Amino acid sequence: MEQTQDMGTDRQNPSVVIIGAGMTGIALAIKLKLSGITHITLLEKADSVGGTWRENTYPGVACDVPSHAYTYSFAPNPHWSSFFAPGREIRAYFQSVFDQYDLGNLTHFNEKVTRCNYQQEKWLVTTESGKNFSADFVFSATGFLHQPRYPDLPGLEDFAGAKMHSARWDHSVDLKGKKIGVIGTGSSATQMIPELINMEGTDVSVFQRTAQWIVHTENKPYSEKQKQRFQQDHSRIERVKNLSLYIFEQGTTALTSTSWFYKTLHKIFAWNAVRNLNKKVKDSELRKKLTPDYTFGCKRVVLNGAFYDAMQQPNAHLVTDKIDHISMTGIVTADGTHHDLDIIVMATGFDSTAYMRPIELTGRDGLTIEEAWRDKMIAYRSMCIPGFPNFFLTLGPNSPVGNYSVIAISERQADFAISLIKEWQKGNLPTIEVKKSAFYNWYSNLKDKLRTTVWASGCQSWYLDADGDPLTWPDSWKAWTRMMDTAAIEDFEKAAPTVINSSSSPQESYSLAES
Ligand code: NAP
Repeated sequence: MEQTQDMGTDRQNPSVVIIGAGMTGIALAIKLKLSGITHITLLEKADSVGGTWRENTYPGVACDVPSHAYTYSFAPNPHWSSFFAPGREIRAYFQSVFDQYDLGNLTHFNEKVTRCNYQQEKWLVTTESGKNFSADFVFSATGFLHQPRYPDLPGLEDFAGAKMHSARWDHSVDLKGKKIGVIGTGSSATQMIPELINMEGTDVSVFQRTAQWIVHTENKPYSEKQKQRFQQDHSRIERVKNLSLYIFEQGTTALTSTSWFYKTLHKIFAWNAVRNLNKKVKDSELRKKLTPDYTFGCKRVVLNGAFYDAMQQPNAHLVTDKIDHISMTGIVTADGTHHDLDIIVMATGFDSTAYMRPIELTGRDGLTIEEAWRDKMIAYRSMCIPGFPNFFLTLGPNSPVGNYSVIAISERQADFAISLIKEWQKGNLPTIEVKKSAFYNWYSNLKDKLRTTVWASGCQSWYLDADGDPLTWPDSWKAWTRMMDTAAIEDFEKAAPTVINSSSSPQESYSLAES
């Protein structure tokens, strides 16, 4: 067992462990380095960087945020091949930034973190291989869509053909000439379905439980000339990026604002999606099946330009009858039809409430994250939890800001955490631990607003927690950045707080009833 030596605490250059070398972990390591904190250990469970872009390799995987807006602010990329970049290119981009900032020498690959324990003002981070790392600060950068959700369908285990989740693609399976069943019609499914349908000899049945709101997007490649211009003049990149982000910002505000203007914009977005469906899909029966019956934006809006055309190919079948069970040779729907299949693809999404788990996270006085979140998964500004000093959760509850670029969110969260660490370095905070009162105030300000948003308007989606409350940010991007731009150190403990939990009385852990 490796035991990292505890060197005490150097306030000017504290030790930091970052869990996860995906998009957020890389941004954090770079921003910490640039702020003068170099004592960083980046722990990655896999053998390479890239997070979601390493794990999602299904045919057609791409980003539905324009490439120049899905780019770090500090590492513009004139080489993007197209307006929406494919997954492998995004992964290569993260690898190149990782290399450019020399993060290899602080990264440990194949180190899956199993436990983080706060003891004697230090975090002890333990990996599956038995290594221990001592740190002043821990950042969880595990992402929030990293635990695949498998459908609970009777007989799934008995299926004799190949079966895989969209995020666990099995490249050894030959798809050509096969009868493929895809369960789900979310962002992942709608990206892969056109690819599967266009493959030689395939026959693709799409099992749709709920129709999606789809906004039509065109993906145009960038010509060599355009890339050259981007390279020569970065202000061109900035213009594309800012325009893209502006459009996403408007879209996000249209989902949350009650103003006449944004309510009208919301209606226009919905009208445009229906117009596109009506224009694209000729068969009225198919069109009816593909028409959503809930409010636009309730589920994450799908941005896609190929799905409707693909579903009208002769080798595509849309099945809307409920799945009853899986047989050895296919899927049986409630109407009794047996759909013969060679391969089942489960594009059934992720457990969006996993966050840092299954890591066992134990904070001050033995408080576990399960106890802390017994009533509700909350983190002050999505990042800080009372009882977990010097621990920052990235992309935590209420982080997603509509369909806005998640890179921009991660970067702001990194800046927010670093601004607090600076206060700690100056001696203004003994540790960085949010006050319970600030934590409750933060959520009670959100709570009522969350329940009136479109996400709580009556559909099922990964945006919702177990109580049906949205895990999104219920306001505009501007409101979010305004909040994140102020460190608000008065919301943090100035002296060691009282014991909030002991092993004998877990009920001492805070609950929402206190709010
Ligand atoms: P998802 O949006 O959660 O969609 C899951 C799909 O599976 C839904 O259609 C769902 O139906 C269906 N489903 C789940 N369980 C089922 C069951 N037991 N029986 C039948 N159908 C079932 O998952 P996702 O498509 O993987 O996307 C998740 C998120 O990942 C996206 O919203 C996005 O944030 C991210 N993503 C991003 C990109 C990108 O381009 N940036 C690409 C892919 C994914 P219901 O609608 O009825 O629940």
